[in-house]
Amino acid sequence: MSEEALVTAADPALAERLARAITLAGPVPLSQFMGAANAHYYATRDPLGARGDFTTAPEISQMFGELVGLALTDLWHRAGQPDARYVEYGPGRGTLAADALRAMATVGLTPPVHLIETSPALRERQAAAVPRAEWCIDLVGVPEDGALLVVANEFFDALPIRQLVRTPQGWRERLVACQDTLFVPVIGNTLFDPVIPQQFADAPVGSILETSPASVAVMRALARRLVAQGGAALVIDYGYRGPAVGDTLQAVRAHRFANPFEAPGEQDLTAHVDFGTLAEAAASEGATVHGPVEQGAFLTTLGIAPRAEALARAAPERAGAIAAERDRLVGAEAMGRLFKVLCVAAPGWPVPEGFV
Ligand code: SAH
Repeated sequence: MSEEALVTAADPALAERLARAITLAGPVPLSQFMGAANAHYYATRDPLGARGDFTTAPEISQMFGELVGLALTDLWHRAGQPDARYVEYGPGRGTLAADALRAMATVGLTPPVHLIETSPALRERQAAAVPRAEWCIDLVGVPEDGALLVVANEFFDALPIRQLVRTPQGWRERLVACQDTLFVPVIGNTLFDPVIPQQFADAPVGSILETSPASVAVMRALARRLVAQGGAALVIDYGYRGPAVGDTLQAVRAHRFANPFEAPGEQDLTAHVDFGTLAEAAASEGATVHGPVEQGAFLTTLGIAPRAEALARAAPERAGAIAAERDRLVGAEAMGRLFKVLCVAAPGWPVPEGFV
């Protein structure tokens, strides 16, 4: 597909469909709005890179995917080199997979590749980067034999969240209503107090508590398969160790923040990932959980500094750019602290490097 064919002009169809549905049936949970918006958004374009809406770590530098690949290879080695499959959730342009698999191959690991991707536009990009890959829409499509070496970078942040708001009457859900053609957040009538964790019962009025049932479901399914088949997953994303109160819903378009309730399906809607809740979901299925640790510390332990020096020696004219890319990945004010890495592993699998 050509670059042009991937770019949709502001497509009124989704906004109109959503507006009609909400007008007929009433306000919908934020998760429904976000799920419909992102499904359309990713299905119709390649959103990555300078000309797109946002840039991710693997698109900044090959060092990211290489080090992730080497971390998984090291684990696989120490686990006794079982038959294994490479699995990646939401692989974007396939850059991370290509870099990780190249690094794995240098030490003789060439696993079958399973890419979990719903977007036809992005599957096409991934096929160019990793021609031997197979695709599926969720983990059910990955065979049930062999250990799983799994990566999810900036995947969970794109899954739909629900938001609960503390009102003077108690906790209620934030819904999305439609006024004329404008989408606006409103507060539902149902009281959620019975399901609110005790520590938030008396949070100040206006506090927002986010949950992502979709993320928890994906994590539980992943943990079950790791426990059954062996293997480990590295989940990398911006996030916090929750549950915690805070409104992290954001929209990004052309590298700028935008109003999340505008132009559904035409901008990237994300929320910060609650690693505490994901870790708990994985542990509840019997998986072993390490971290989360900060991305900066993780990449530093894996050797990003010597890797950057080696790349700079091989391409002296790019030395400045390579150092800048390294700093962007590990710098405390850049991605190094906000981004975290969670490892979920089968019981008995070794502890990955970078996790104490
Ligand atoms: N991991 C890539 C891309 C991140 S963007 C990188 O780091 O560059 C999010 C990715 O998740 C895209 O590939 C998007 O199409 C995919 N995605 C979003 N929601 C999904 C879902 N519900 N199921 C499968 N893939 C999804």
